[in-house]
Amino acid sequence: MGRDLGPDCRLCRREGEKLFLKGARCYTHKCAVSRREYAPGQHGLKKGKLSNFGVQLREKQKIKRIYGVLETQFRNYFLKAAGTKGVTGHILLQFLERRLDSVLFNCGFAKSRTDGRQIVSHNHVSVNGRRVNIPSFLVKPNDIIEIKTDDKALANIKANVETTKERKVPGWLTVDAANMTIKVVRIPTREDVTFTVNEQLVVELYSR
Ligand code: SF4
Repeated sequence: MGRDLGPDCRLCRREGEKLFLKGARCYTHKCAVSRREYAPGQHGLKKGKLSNFGVQLREKQKIKRIYGVLETQFRNYFLKAAGTKGVTGHILLQFLERRLDSVLFNCGFAKSRTDGRQIVSHNHVSVNGRRVNIPSFLVKPNDIIEIKTDDKALANIKANVETTKERKVPGWLTVDAANMTIKVVRIPTREDVTFTVNEQLVVELYSR
């Protein structure tokens, strides 16, 4: 699956809030959202009232951009969520949280989800003893995720763990930083999603 290769900060500015797409830079004064509080592009400074559709569309774009997922894959997650028993919006977020690149980010093994994606696709991760190089791989309860790689890459990932150690690991995952392993304790719940999103707007958008 592809991903958006454009400038990350532009995506945050378009949504008008920090989406934390670039790791350490997002926590500094260099963050583009703090420096230029308007949308990118020629008409970025123009402000108009959004229609209902516009509000729903922006929320969908925001969630897609946070997880680094393109439209087709995102819609597939939605269709899968809609076909699963339970609250569709919550299940949609569950699928996104369970992605292997997102798990690495949530546990501090990656600086951002994009970094997590790179760690996985460069073959540095195994799940239950088997190499996995698919960032969208969905983890499930009792999975053991290990970093298995050469010394150089391992040192980089350990440095990420050190710089993100203040970050709170969600309750559905446990981290053993000494052995560079993560255990999936349970399926994530809505409360495990720490940023502010209104997934119901996405459900309404796709139900039009
Ligand atoms: Fe977004 Fe991070 Fe860029 Fe700030 S620094 S605009 S949070 S990607």
